[in-house]
Formats: sequence, C-alpha cells, structure tokens
Amino acid sequence: MDLKLFINNEWRPASSGKTFDVDNPATGEIVGTASQGSREDAVAALEAASRAFPAWSRTTGDERSRLLKKAGQIVYDKYEDLGRILTLEQGKPLRDAQREVESAAETLIYYGEEARRIGGEIAPSKSKTSRSLVIRQPIGIVAAISPWNYPVSLMAWKVGPALAAGCTVVAKPPSETPLATGLFVAACAEAGLPPGVVNVVTGPSSVVGEELVANPLSHMIAFTGSTEVGRHLMQSASKGLKKLSLELGGHTAFVVFKDASFDRAVADGAKRSFRNMGQICNAVNRIYVEKSIAERYIERFVQETKKLRIGDGLANPDIDLGPMVNAEGIERTERQIQDALAKGATLLCGGRRPDRPELAKGFFYEPTAVTNVRDDMLVMRQETFGPLVAIATFEGVDEALRLANSTDYGLVTYAYTNDISTMLRFAEGMESGTVAFNSISPDSLYAPYPAWKQSGLGVELGHFGIDEYLRVKHVLIEFKV
Ligand code: NAD
Repeated sequence: MDLKLFINNEWRPASSGKTFDVDNPATGEIVGTASQGSREDAVAALEAASRAFPAWSRTTGDERSRLLKKAGQIVYDKYEDLGRILTLEQGKPLRDAQREVESAAETLIYYGEEARRIGGEIAPSKSKTSRSLVIRQPIGIVAAISPWNYPVSLMAWKVGPALAAGCTVVAKPPSETPLATGLFVAACAEAGLPPGVVNVVTGPSSVVGEELVANPLSHMIAFTGSTEVGRHLMQSASKGLKKLSLELGGHTAFVVFKDASFDRAVADGAKRSFRNMGQICNAVNRIYVEKSIAERYIERFVQETKKLRIGDGLANPDIDLGPMVNAEGIERTERQIQDALAKGATLLCGGRRPDRPELAKGFFYEPTAVTNVRDDMLVMRQETFGPLVAIATFEGVDEALRLANSTDYGLVTYAYTNDISTMLRFAEGMESGTVAFNSISPDSLYAPYPAWKQSGLGVELGHFGIDEYLRVKHVLIEFKV
C-alpha cells in the first residue's frame, strides 16, 4: 500500500517524490509507504482548503448533513479493509481496529445530524429601534492533527464537526500510522464533497505539522497528542492568535470504594489499565483501593491481569492485547518500572517482555502492576502510555479526592461505588473533564469530552464538539419606525 497526498480531491505524490516506510509493530515488517510531504505540499493543501471555503461555508445545514451521512456510510462500508490496515500499522487487535473505523463512521453520521441544528439567537434589544441577531459562522480552515493510538477515530472527532460547521480541513495523520487515517479522510470526499473541502498531507511533523500550524492560511488547530507538543503548538499558533482545540495527555486514576461491586471493579481495572497496551490517553495509571478491601483486590487484580492474552492482532482478531507501537514506548515503560522498584515499590506481575519466540520481533510487553508506591515515583506523575499501573490505598472520600487530584492532568477519572452520596461528592470534587462511575467506557458521542488542567483546552464530542468550530457574530440592525 502506497498512500499519496490527497489535495483538491486528487491523489498526488509529494513534491519531492519521497516516501517513508510504515512498519507493522507486531512483526517489524514494512506494510506500506506514505508520501513525505514538504512545506510546499502543506501550503498547497491549505490553499485548496481556502479556495473551497467560501462556497462550502455557505452550503445549508441540510446539504452538509446529507453529505456527511453519506460519507459515514461509505466509511462504514470500508470498515473491514480500513480496520485491517489499521491493525497492520498500529498493532491493535483486528476487532478493535474495525470497531474504531465503525465508530469513526458513526461520528460522521452524528455530526451530519448536528449540521442541521446550527442556529443562532435574538439577543434582547438595546433600544426600541434596534434588534440584535446573534449568528454562528464557521471558523474557517482547520488543521486537524491526530496521534497514532486511535488515529482514525480521533481524526473523525475533528473532521466530523468541522465539516458539519462549514469549515474546510487539512488533515495530518501521525507518521507511525498514516495509512488508515489518510484513507479515512479521503473516503469522506467520495460522498461528493467539493474539491479542497478535505485534504490529507502526510510527512514529518517538524515540516508538515509546523507549516499547517504556523501558516496564516489556517484559522484553527484541532490537535490530539501529548501535552508537550500541545504546549509547543500553542506557542506557534499564538502569532496568528488562532483558535486551538487541544486534547492532550492524561494520568488517570481508578478509585475503588469499599462498597463497590467487587468483581466488576477488578475486571474493569485490569482491562482499562492494559487495553491497547496502555496506550490510551485515559488508560488507568493509578489505582486507589479503599484500605479494608485492598489486599483482596490486589490478589484478584493480578489473577485477572495474568489472564490477558498477548499476540499478533491480525492472526488473532479477538486477542486482548497487541504490541506497543514502537521501542520508545517499551523503553519509557521500563524506565518507570525501574524507577519505582529502585524507590521501594513491589512488582506484582509483568515487568518484562514475553519470552514466546513468535513475539520476538514485535514490540510486546507483559502487563505490569506495582504496589507500595510513593508519590515521588515517575509512575505516579508522568504519563506512561504503556502497560504499567500502580496500586495504592486510601480511606474515605476526602483522601480519595486528594490522591486522585494529585497530578497536573485532568482528563478522565474512574470510580467504583454504588453509594449516591459518595458519587456526588467525588464527582463534584474531581478536577477532570470526565468522571465515570462503574464504567470504563468514559466517552459518548452525545456528551462532551472536555480536557481540564494540563490535559488540554477545549471540548470534543456532543453538540459541544461542533461549537468549537463556530464563532458568534452580533448583527445589530437599526430600523425606522
Ligand atoms: P505527539 O504529541 O507526539 O503527536 C501527536 C500528533 O502531532 C502526531 O500526528 C504528530 O505527528 C503531530 N506532531 C508532533 N509534533 C508536531 C509539531 N511540532 N507540529 C505539528 N504536529 C506535530 O503524540 P503521540 O505520541 O502521537 O500520541 C500520544 C499522546 O497523545 C499521549 O500523550 C496521549 O495521552 C495523547 N492523547 C490524548 C488524547 C485525548 O483525547 N486527550 C487521546 C489520545 C492520545
């Protein structure tokens, strides 16, 4: 598979003619190439998006709705192929990859529906002879940048609402996993989008990404990725005072109160700590268990973790865990494990690469849990983005809140309890955009997914997601009486 740039509804090679290889993290084999876009290619895509914007921004909500719903159906029809490509380049089990593509299709369809609901309001009149209309208009040209862990669905969270709002888009897929994301965005155009409404430029982030963010032709940067890069983009975008939507890193707490449904809290804790090899912004990093049930919880958690099956996600579509995306992730995880053990933590399970010969060439790592942890350990502060979780104890809601709130991040918190008072006190005291009780599926198409603290600025999903791509205008009309 050889992914080219998609500009003005045409596939074209990079202006330099160069490409880069895309590897399968489960086997180390090259699965395809993508075009190595240059600054000129990024500018060409921004120009195409700028030319398309005036007409696209004036389409009716109904027109955009029809096209987005059709695009969703087209993507849905491709879920098997796109899912297979995603597994090949990212490593996640085939079933998870196909589900990701399906959810991207659902996102397009949902925002197709939201496109018809963009209204305004009539503000109170400041005089007898004036009226104040408040209208909402699309921001303009959006540079959409997604990370490699859920590259297709996170790109859909941007492309869907941006197009629904009447914006045009230049998408930059991650270089680790560019293929399925590039094909996904281009598939949207098959619904009949006019040339330039969606464009895809792959290539080095230091070249293509920087140009898309800094070039005056882009009006908004919709970014999901690390906090470090998010901060940098904020600086680059500040020259143009551009609108930013930033969904960044996390350090997620999972809190188990003593009244929780025990088996569920064990099974969900293990699943959410290690799904996608812990490479999820809302993967569990810290588990806090109420003291009276902690010993039993830890024992059962280790048993549950040991049941997780690791393997090649293409050969075994229903496997629990595929590989990590690259060696860097394994090194980061090992660094945190060594730091914790050196500072006195106890290793409960994992802490090594699996020794099965068939996994030798891939970036596999055993799900790892540590306990007897202290706040000065890296695992308690820094995002791991790998299969490592730390387990500690607490007593009472106040201490649970203090510990769960003790990092700079504020994306998602999970808590297990059946007590409504505990739920309300905990939900209101938690400094994170989402608090999920008795569930490890924290996001919903229909509700906001906001980022707090160093986890970002802005909101994706729900009708809040489309608001990000609109700006308000006050139209004041003086009339004769
Ligand atoms: P990253 O920040 O390295 O890269 C993210 C994207 O930004 C990639 O497409 C990359 O090519 C691009 N990029 C990097 N430098 C750039 C620059 N200077 N200019 C423009 N673009 C640039 O992150 P990653 O390693 O791909 O993903 C992991 C991170 O993403 C983790 O921190 C994780 O928590 C975060 N994440 C957050 C969410 C969320 O919803 N908050 C979801 C998924 C992942």
